Amino acid sequence: MTGSLTVVGLGPGNPDQMTPEALAAISAAEDFFGYFPYIDRLNLRANQRRHASDNREELVRAKTALEMAAKGGKVCVVSGGDPGVFAMAAAVCEAIDEGPVEWREIELSVVPGVTAMLAVAAKAGAPLGHDFCAISLSNNLKPWDIIEKRLIAAAQAGFVMAFYNPISKARPRQLGEAFDILRAHLPGTVPVIFGRAAGRPDEAIRIVPLAEAQGDMADMATCVIVGTAETRIIERDGNRPIVYSPRYFKGNA
Ligand code: SAH
Repeated sequence: MTGSLTVVGLGPGNPDQMTPEALAAISAAEDFFGYFPYIDRLNLRANQRRHASDNREELVRAKTALEMAAKGGKVCVVSGGDPGVFAMAAAVCEAIDEGPVEWREIELSVVPGVTAMLAVAAKAGAPLGHDFCAISLSNNLKPWDIIEKRLIAAAQAGFVMAFYNPISKARPRQLGEAFDILRAHLPGTVPVIFGRAAGRPDEAIRIVPLAEAQGDMADMATCVIVGTAETRIIERDGNRPIVYSPRYFKGNA
């Protein structure tokens, strides 16, 4: 008997930013797989089982979840934010792609969530109001020279950029190097937003010009948004500035 596997996005951390669809999918499932802080966010019933694991075990976790679903389980795999953005949905798809043919019979659904860059952008104003891209700065899964090429291409193309996985204890230098690369291609006045723990009690939003942006202004709970020459700042007395990228392109790419 084949069961089901639902990959659910929990949003950035604020329970109000979880969708009703995500809550219904969690209520309907029996076995839960995910990184332990995400599993801890769930209010599970006594008969719902937790299989929390370390963050670096994505593919192993996906395979274990699929094995259980193939045996008839009602399995849920959870991710923070959106499960399709640098997260478990792609790991599950990869495991199905490479796995036994029976796994293709599992009823698979992916429930979207509010991804970090959207939560951070909303706090700052509308920095993603024009064309943008998302780049993971982690070189655990791709080489750094590819990241460098993408940063330069995105800057030259005039995309606002959202950086995920900007820095970690094992990767302390990437974000600072990314800013150095961008300073060679963008004006120093371009706004950079450091959005830490958006939607959580310890949320912190900081806005600095690219000329002053430094790697140590972020940690691994931060999503960094780098504007373009078109991105504007509205200063406000006593209030955080508003950052937005106008819908109308004036030609300062
Ligand atoms: N699937 C997640 C991203 C996983 S990658 C999503 O859609 O949001 C992990 C990275 O996401 C972190 O290093 C950080 O850059 C970002 N992130 C996750 N939650 C965040 C939050 N609440 N505030 C700011 N950034 C966050």
